[in-house]
Amino acid sequence: MTDAATRLANIRSSIVRSAKAARRDPGDVTLVAVTKQRNPEEIQPLITAGVTDFGENRVAEAANKWPLLRSVHPTIKLHMIGRLQSNKAAEAVELFDVIHSLDRQSLLKGLVAAGEHARRFPEVYVQVNIGAEEQKGGLPIADLPVFLDEVRASPLPLAGLMAMPPLGVEPGPYFALLAELARRHGVKGLSMGMSSDYATAVMLGATVVRVGSALFED
Ligand SMILES: *Cc1c(COP(=O)(O)O)cnc(C)c1O
Repeated sequence: MTDAATRLANIRSSIVRSAKAARRDPGDVTLVAVTKQRNPEEIQPLITAGVTDFGENRVAEAANKWPLLRSVHPTIKLHMIGRLQSNKAAEAVELFDVIHSLDRQSLLKGLVAAGEHARRFPEVYVQVNIGAEEQKGGLPIADLPVFLDEVRASPLPLAGLMAMPPLGVEPGPYFALLAELARRHGVKGLSMGMSSDYATAVMLGATVVRVGSALFED
């Protein structure tokens, strides 16, 4: 049995190793601890160990769990990493500091309207359907130039691109493609890499890795 602090330390050192191997500054990589389906008792050791960024994939679950934790730890940044329905935009804008799943015009409109109402504009990552998969969220690559212009014209700060490679195949080429799209379009942030592949993602330029199970399970 390993505890959360030890697993966290191992992940952090693996991020540092991967960044250095790619001649990158490890300080340019943010670890987002994905806490979906984890309770406050499981989350607390990570806060104690200094994790500042947390990710959730459902608005309702985040709304139940985080307001209390954040009232005690106000510097925590909360990230929305899951699919977001436009009718949840208002709640999402109130709750989250960063939204990683902006992938369509209707959602952009919903977030802008909600942000103007709340006078609060979360940073956004544009999620790209990097493997052109039918059921997966994310914007088609071909739509990226026009959509990025629309986001840049909006009051939502554009943080970068996000993607989830197809399951069961080598993720490296997809990470490299997302990095190339970001370069081509002058976008800085790259939200890519999860428990099974964050080291590869860091070597290929990830600025944010979203790690869940590797923090909580041996
Ligand atoms: C659950 C989830 C993660 C974390 O996945 P793990 O394999 O548990 O690390 C990352 N990104 C998204 C979008 C997720 O839904």
